[in-house]
Amino acid sequence: MNPKIKRFDGLALVGGHPALDFLNTVEYRGRAAPGDTLRSFESLVQWSALAGLVSRSEMAAMLASESRGRAQGARALSDAIALREAMYAVVVAAIKREPRPSQAIGLLERRLRRVRAGASLAYDTHNSTFSWQVKCARAYDVVARLADAADDLLLSLDAISVHQCRGPNCDWLFVDRSHGHRRVWCQPATCGNVVRVRRSRAGARRL
Ligand SMILES: [Zn+2]
Repeated sequence: MNPKIKRFDGLALVGGHPALDFLNTVEYRGRAAPGDTLRSFESLVQWSALAGLVSRSEMAAMLASESRGRAQGARALSDAIALREAMYAVVVAAIKREPRPSQAIGLLERRLRRVRAGASLAYDTHNSTFSWQVKCARAYDVVARLADAADDLLLSLDAISVHQCRGPNCDWLFVDRSHGHRRVWCQPATCGNVVRVRRSRAGARRL
């Protein structure tokens, strides 16, 4: 197991972009009952902290806020999952050059517009750069941070090379930073290894 890879509850974060890691919290959508790592509001917030989308103090503030009103956490989880699945449909359609999924794009647009409406424009005097700052204090704010990451991925999709894993029982998405952009597995040591073992067994049977 590669110690450099971050893991949440055993799940590897190998997407190369937090929004792709968010989409990869499902294993695997081709199965009748896909496994979902984000089963509670707590797991959603803790995963977001590990992925670097919220700080530890923001995580603590959101968990405290949620403990004061449980309904907000349940709504955040349900909206985060809806955002994730819409985003998945949009990204997969884009990288496979399939027709645009209008319903998913509509949901994404509404979420991203809401994030921008609640964000403030920050100026970094040291680097002379502007950026949108999305506040994160109440339980529901985690959805805004996830939408902000989704926004960043969508707007940079043409500049990066996003692939879908070709491993068996795997549909994870990842940024291919390899020379020549020919990487086909999310994790060469796992998905790639399964394929290599199958090929060598098939070869041995033919001998
Ligand atoms: Zn894979």
